[in-house]
Amino acid sequence: MTNQPQAPTLTCPLCSCPQFQQEEARTDSKWGFTSHEMTLMVCVNCRYVLHFYDRNSIFDFD
Ligand SMILES: [Zn+2]
Repeated sequence: MTNQPQAPTLTCPLCSCPQFQQEEARTDSKWGFTSHEMTLMVCVNCRYVLHFYDRNSIFDFD
């Protein structure tokens, strides 16, 4: 038994392509107290961009 849930396969909602290009983006809050890192997954087929906020996504990017 494992505590790690199985991450679902990431597929593009538009074209169902399973391949993505990973990009990182940093965003600062409007008051400048915190900065968050966002992971962008860009569909290699249609270039649709999925945004993942911070790093606690169910998807394991590394
Ligand atoms: Zn796509």
